[in-house]
Amino acid sequence: MRILLPAIALMLGSATAIAQPRETAVSSTPDIRPFIAQEINPKVHLLTLPKDWYAALSGNVVLIEQSDGFVVVDSGGNAGNGRAVVRYAKSLADRPIKAVMITHWHGDHPQGLSAIRDAYPKVRIISTRGTEEGIRGPASYDIGYTPDPKFDRATANLAEKNKADYLKLLDDPTTPPDRKERIKRALGQFDEMTRDFVGSYLVLPTETFEHELVIKDRDVPVHMLFLGRANTDGDAIAWLPRQKIVASGDIVVSPYPFGFGSYPADWIVTLGKLKALGFKTLIPGHGDPMTGVGYLDRLIASIRDLQAQVGPLAKAGVSLDNARKRVDFSKSIATFGDTAVIKANLQGLFFDPMIGSAYKEARGEPILQGDLEGFPPPEVTDTPPLSRAIHHKF
Ligand SMILES: [Zn+2]
Repeated sequence: MRILLPAIALMLGSATAIAQPRETAVSSTPDIRPFIAQEINPKVHLLTLPKDWYAALSGNVVLIEQSDGFVVVDSGGNAGNGRAVVRYAKSLADRPIKAVMITHWHGDHPQGLSAIRDAYPKVRIISTRGTEEGIRGPASYDIGYTPDPKFDRATANLAEKNKADYLKLLDDPTTPPDRKERIKRALGQFDEMTRDFVGSYLVLPTETFEHELVIKDRDVPVHMLFLGRANTDGDAIAWLPRQKIVASGDIVVSPYPFGFGSYPADWIVTLGKLKALGFKTLIPGHGDPMTGVGYLDRLIASIRDLQAQVGPLAKAGVSLDNARKRVDFSKSIATFGDTAVIKANLQGLFFDPMIGSAYKEARGEPILQGDLEGFPPPEVTDTPPLSRAIHHKF
């Protein structure tokens, strides 16, 4: 999805915190760049981006080892990410990746699928129907549905546009030296990301489900659940009842939420259902795992704050632009942390788009997926193939 590059521009533009590279938890890993591996449980592993990653996002990828193969949650943001997932699975066990569940349609989650399916052509690809519809359009991706150099070029062009702003900062004598160091690192990451995008294309789910799809296993059964709309209209989670581990997709993103095309009221209800699972560990769609519900409570409180401030203005007929000027979320933002990076990203990636959603919700207007208000249109588009997914009515 086109959100990922412009969103990242915001993040780097506000990157004033000191990056903290982390140790790799698993010692002898293959080349899984740009990911870092973490063992959550001997059968559950997480691939996540380092905190000092500034180029296009990739969602967290979770590998769950069952007796006859891996169930993987999400696939990364490009073919290079997908190849890293395959290499990492091979390093863990001599078992195939038998299924991938895509939590939601935003491109940083399904765009690694092509590489996983190249390695395992029979892999089951599972999502909700809303997510399948999101992957099929509206044409909001920088990759197409078949490998095509024109999409590689479009991604490279977008990366160059992102880089241009930072190159200016490098030339600016007023830019502090430590920021220049971060910018130099980021420029290399944009090049790495552009290489990883080459040959990426979208792959549609082979199966969709309504409420719950279980992949049985003696030790690590995986329950794929749709708890309701939240960050998108089709957010699925993977729940491991034996281990009490849940992979939430972008219903929960740490250390700050994303709020593009999201449903404020439903999101609160869905977060309540997520809490009611009684998880011991929650693996968010981005960022580090968490053990308590404190972050979820802060997220719920911030959505309520949005509704409380935006709703009355929307109902009174104040224009969206004027409503934006009259709201103040500094108190909510402070509950997430007070670093400059968190403040800027919460405003840009969560509150700004969520003001629009809360406004529409209060007026009873539909919140549309793929509505990329404020983002430039894609350079090239592609026609989505027809759905061939088997739909399970459960
Ligand atoms: Zn994401």
